[in-house]
Order: sequence, then structure tokens, then C-alpha cells
Amino acid sequence: MKVVQLKMSTKQQALFIIFGGTGDLAKRKLYPALFALYQKGIINEHFAVIGTARRPWTDQHFQAVVCESLPEQDAAAARKFAAHFYYQSHNVNDTEHYVTLKKLAQKLDEKYQIGGNRLFYLAMSPRFFGTIAQHLKSQEIVTADGYNRVIIEKPFGHDYQSAAELNQSISKYFSEDDVFRIDHYLGKEMVQNILAIRFGNNIFNSLWNNRYIDNLQITLSESLGVEERAGYYETAGALRDMVQNHILQIVSLLTMKMPTTYSEADIRREKICALKALKVYQPQEVAENFVRAQYQAANGLKGYRQEDQIASDSQTETFVAGKLKVASENFAGVPIYIRTGKRLRQKATRIDVIFKPVPGNIFADQNLADNILTIKVEPEGKVSLQVNVKKIGQGYQLQEQQLDLSPENRNGQQIPEAYEKLLLDALAGDATNFTHWEEVAYSWKFVDAIRQAWDNSQQPLVEYPCGSMGPKQADELLAIDHRNWIY
Ligand code: NAD
Repeated sequence: MKVVQLKMSTKQQALFIIFGGTGDLAKRKLYPALFALYQKGIINEHFAVIGTARRPWTDQHFQAVVCESLPEQDAAAARKFAAHFYYQSHNVNDTEHYVTLKKLAQKLDEKYQIGGNRLFYLAMSPRFFGTIAQHLKSQEIVTADGYNRVIIEKPFGHDYQSAAELNQSISKYFSEDDVFRIDHYLGKEMVQNILAIRFGNNIFNSLWNNRYIDNLQITLSESLGVEERAGYYETAGALRDMVQNHILQIVSLLTMKMPTTYSEADIRREKICALKALKVYQPQEVAENFVRAQYQAANGLKGYRQEDQIASDSQTETFVAGKLKVASENFAGVPIYIRTGKRLRQKATRIDVIFKPVPGNIFADQNLADNILTIKVEPEGKVSLQVNVKKIGQGYQLQEQQLDLSPENRNGQQIPEAYEKLLLDALAGDATNFTHWEEVAYSWKFVDAIRQAWDNSQQPLVEYPCGSMGPKQADELLAIDHRNWIY
């Protein structure tokens, strides 16, 4: 808490150079997030933004686009904020363009007295990251008198090999400490709450192991279909798009050991160990522990293969369910069931921690409910604990009850968007909620084994109707263990 308050009260000075400044991500997420930091006074006088992309826009047009991307109610503040934005038409492969970019960066650094601090946001296809990193160094756009940090968007590679090559192409020019790999789930309030709940409460900390936890369940369900991302999604699929990053990050937060201190170095070290402890499956084990599926037309919605730009015989999975095993002292024997997909019943992100039953139940004639800790990340952040209590009245019956443990919003604060929090962290140089290269590497090694088994398998994808919670095979994955999805 102390650390966060310190950051919130510190005014930041920085020049943002956004590669892909005309793109969807910049408009939908980055400009609103920067505006929120501006409204809070965190970036104020001493900041400027250079948006770069190929289109020949003027500063005025760029500023109008930025204003349009912001909440409508603050038009005057939006205009003042947008006046800090400059546009540079730029093809990332053209060295000449970096010369112009350098001049503009120097001019703005002086004008806004920024002190050489630079944040390079790579909001474009990863195939350009290497060339951008190289040019930033060779054309001396990095400064000697301030910090130089690179923020990188997903996907970070499409398998371990390509991720390692990508990493090498960046690490030649920037040290790991200056590379901030975004996983926006790590900026979500309730995902950040996992460590608070686990390590801030002895009642959970002391029970958080294979003696007391029966199983963990993680669901990231989306109600939307593939929308405008067909081209990318066809080559990625749900495994690469959601499991390699967001789900495995949540797994690492749930299974890591207690770090020595709440600090970037200690937390990342334990997360890396947690990901290293994931059992990498052999092909036969993949078939036993993973289900892949594709959505089919139902409830007036198109099936995946009928969507625009999707091959009519596409083998891309839009749904994955799996059972993960962890080879660590505390989690050996605790299955982690994961599930994610498109066109499911509703959009939700939630974690259920199911505890083992009381040994030697004295209420033998009654069915006791499991103790379940539920962390709802989306749509609404909530935490609850299911317990058993005596039913009020005569006799001795038990009933289950939900205890609401949701964080009280004492000051009625608006919860910041993930991108706002992560941008503030990057400004403050705190990489706790970004993924370290080794986390990325272990995640890909785990995912690659599944992908390769699927690619070599004759087993077809299974189907599920739009609006369901996935195929029956995803339920059978738990039923075979005498369990069921809580959600
Ligand atoms: P986009 O296609 O909307 O934007 C891409 C940007 O790159 C545009 O500004 C385009 O002009 C620019 N560009 C392309 N080629 C260029 C070149 N040769 N030189 C200079 N500029 C060039 O993409 P997006 O949706 O904004 O996504 C950007 C990155 O963020 C991608 O890696 C994507 O996977 C990732 N991402 C996006 C989202 C999202 O919600 N949009 C979410 C997570 C991750």
C-alpha cells in the first residue's frame, strides 16, 4: 500500500513514443489510460506523446483522434491533454524516419522539460519489434540522461522458439530491466488481489497447499466471437491467445510460494518457479488432460467456420479446457482445471479455490457444501467464501452461506482500468505486474507440448454451440475425477 501511495503522489515526467499510434489498441486503451493519469495529475506539464504510424496525419488531426477516444464529459480537459500529442508519419523499416523522430523527440524533451525519460510503446505487430529496438539504439533515440523503457504488447511469439528469437532481437539493445511485457490481466484489480488474499491472511495462507486444497478452477469465458481479429486468431487459437499468457499468469499467482518481500524481484522469482513446476505433458497425457473445441452456429449466431475470413475447414480451437498438474511441494496432487473460450454463455473471469472436506464429518447424515473461495475478476470484482452454518430454528440442520469478502471501496473510488495501472507502473519503473522473459519462456514450453500433440493428432476438434459453456468433454474432464465445474 505504501509503495502504491508513493507512486500515486509522484508527478511523472516522460516522453511517450507510441509505435502504432493510429491503431485500435492505442485509441481504445492507451489514450484513455494516459488521460486518466493526466486527470489525476500524475502526468501533467512535463509530458508529451509522439504517435507514429504510416499514415500522413497532421498533429491537428492526430489530436482530434485522441480527443475522440476520450470520455465525452471532459471536452475542455481533453483538448488541453491532447495538445501534448504530436504525430510523426513513420515507416518502422525506414532509417531516415528515425532521424526525424529523434529531432522531434529532442525538441519536445526541451519544450516540456522532460529530462530525457522515454517510454517506447510498441503497439503494433511483433514482427517489427526487433527493427524498432535496433533503430532506437543505432539512431540514438534512447537518451543518456533519463530512463529508456520499452513496453511490448502480446503476442510475445507464437511458440518458444519464435519468442526466444523475438526476445533476443530486443535484448540485444535493451536490458531485461527496461523491457515491460504487458499482460493486461496483471493490471486487473482482482487479479492483483490474489496475493493480498493469500499472503495477507493467515487463515488462507496456512491452508494454501495440498493438505487443504482439493482443486483450483479458472474460467476466462468470452461471449463475443472472433469479431475483427480473424486473421490473427486463425493463426493463434484459444491456447496461444488466452492460456499461454493470461491463464498461466493467474496459475502462477495462485501456486507460487510466498515471496520473501512484496517486491518485484522476489515476486517474479517465485512466479518463475511456479511456472517451471508445471508438468509439461507427453502427447498421450495431452489427449487425456486437454480438450479443444470450436463454436458452432446456435441461438441465431454464426459458427466459427462461417465467420468472415475464417477457413471453412479451419482447425483453430476457439475453446480449451485442461487439467494442469504442478510438481511443487505445496501443489503436487492438486489439479488445476482451466477453461477459456469464445461465444460462451457470458463474459466472465473467475477463480474458484475448492477446499477439502472436514475429515471425519460428524454431520454424517447431511451433505456438507464444500468451502469455496471465489474470486470474480469480471464483470464485477467480488470475493466470497462459501461456509456451512447451522440453520436457524429447531433441530440441527446445516446450510451453506456465502460470506462476502469483497474489498470495501471506502472512498468510493473509480477502479482504474488495467492499462492505466500498468502505464503508471511502467512510469514508476515497477515491473512487478509485467511478465519476465523466463515466465514467458516456461509458459511457451508448457503450451508448445500441447500444441504439438494436437498438430500431430488425428483426433478432430469437438464442437460446442454458441451460448453454451463449452463441449461436454470439458465437463467429463472433471467428472472422471468425481468433480464438476463450480461455475
Ligand atoms: P492495428 O492493426 O489496429 O494497429 C497497428 C498499427 O501499426 C497502426 O497504427 C498501423 O499504422 C501501424 N503500422 C503497421 N505497419 C507499420 C509500419 N510498417 N510502419 C509503421 N507503422 C505501421 O493493431 P492493434 O489492434 O492496435 O494492435 C497492436 C498490437 O497490440 C498487436 O501486436 C496486437 O496483437 C496487440 N494487442 C492488441 C489488442 C487490442 O485490443 N487491439 C489487445 C492486446 C494486444
